[in-house]
Amino acid sequence: MAGVTLDSVSKIYDDRVTAVRSATIAIEEGEFMVLVGPSGCGKSTTLRMVAGLEEVSSGTIRIGSRDVTHLAPKDRDVAMVFQNYALYPHMSCFDNMAFALKIRGLPKTEIARKVDEAAHILGIETLLERKPRQLSGGQRQRVAVGRAIVRDPKVFLFDEPLSNLDAKLRVQMRAEISRLHSTLSATMIYVTHDQVEAMTMGDRIVVMLDGEIQQIATPMELYHQPVNRFVAGFIGSPPMNFLDGRIEQREGLRLSAGGIDLPLDGLEELLRNHLERRVEVGFRPQGLRPAKPGEGFDARVEVVEPMGSETFVHLRIGETPISARLAADVELGHGDRICLRPDPHALHLFDGETGLAIA
Ligand code: ADP
Repeated sequence: MAGVTLDSVSKIYDDRVTAVRSATIAIEEGEFMVLVGPSGCGKSTTLRMVAGLEEVSSGTIRIGSRDVTHLAPKDRDVAMVFQNYALYPHMSCFDNMAFALKIRGLPKTEIARKVDEAAHILGIETLLERKPRQLSGGQRQRVAVGRAIVRDPKVFLFDEPLSNLDAKLRVQMRAEISRLHSTLSATMIYVTHDQVEAMTMGDRIVVMLDGEIQQIATPMELYHQPVNRFVAGFIGSPPMNFLDGRIEQREGLRLSAGGIDLPLDGLEELLRNHLERRVEVGFRPQGLRPAKPGEGFDARVEVVEPMGSETFVHLRIGETPISARLAADVELGHGDRICLRPDPHALHLFDGETGLAIA
């Protein structure tokens, strides 16, 4: 086991596409680090550079204290699990899992012991004689994970391993991989575009956009203290709502947004540079409460989604779409008007030009 350090790592494809720009990430030994972001943000490229499957254009990668930047994949002591499993179709599951160990020249009994141990951890003992085509998607993915486990690598790398599974199985495998992380206490780097997967699995999360790291933090830090509007909108489900607003000085500091006006007492110092300037106001769907007319946003109901335990409501404030998580017993229908008040303590303010978090 070892930590992984990326120091100013960049990747430029074909001299023109900057896939990753100066990424610096320090992953601790035993940590479960998730790389998350929309498609094309550079997360797979980052993982593949750690694996040695892509050359870096500049920067340094270390595994433990060893500089692996220019080492071949086989010399890095990492094991990667891919989205498409990449199992050998003509080999049994046992042979798929044993393959790397045979090449290493391990004694047969030792190989059998390691494969049995991994199969036991993953609950696939009874499947070892089958070929991959005789398995379900989830079982194949377990074999692919088993193949990584038997190699006892310093670092596990996962590239969207659950994307090919149906929703229910994804949730189940998510928990299994988390359990595996606890069992093995291994360093794991996990790539996904799914923020729920990132939030539920990661000790820490790297949020990427357009090849650049936006924020590296624990799930709760990302949720409560996003550094910019992108992270705020990407993390959390349903996503944060945003309204255009303005900071005004009238009988103290006021925030004017969506037709309402909220006091900003005590924030004078923080907001000094934002007076009379455009800001974006962020508030989460669960922070909205029905209010008396005139005491909140005047919103028009478009869609009501009863979930049983609560109700999701899609509304518009003026032309801006927002969503609210309200009590299960709320009685609303298409076209209704409702007044909603955000929790003033849970507002996020972002600079209208740069998108950077203010508070
Ligand atoms: P993600 O995994 O976040 O979806 P990738 O790391 O796969 O993103 O890709 C990042 C960017 O690099 C994208 O713009 C993609 O089109 C580009 N890219 C990826 N692989 C190659 C390649 N082999 N040649 C050229 N461009 C590539």
